[in-house]
Amino acid sequence: MFEDSNMCLFCNASGKDVQLYKVYQWDKPDRYSWYCKDHYRQVEKHHDEQARAFVKGFESEQARAYLSPKQLELWEKMKKKYDY
Ligand SMILES: [Zn+2]
Repeated sequence: MFEDSNMCLFCNASGKDVQLYKVYQWDKPDRYSWYCKDHYRQVEKHHDEQARAFVKGFESEQARAYLSPKQLELWEKMKKKYDY
């Protein structure tokens, strides 16, 4: 319904003028924002880095003991995705 009035979160480029891409938050898959082509790439890269750091930061089972079940689920999912 509001597709046309969406804007890039970074530069406010309007969906009326440019193609916008929906990007889901890597750690909250039910949340997303819209980005233009350039910023979409930046955000994807940023998400990648964050997810990798998260996988790495909790590599030891001892560290993972501090994660909530939901975070642990996310960790396992990301671990598979980035396959260290
Ligand atoms: Zn933008």
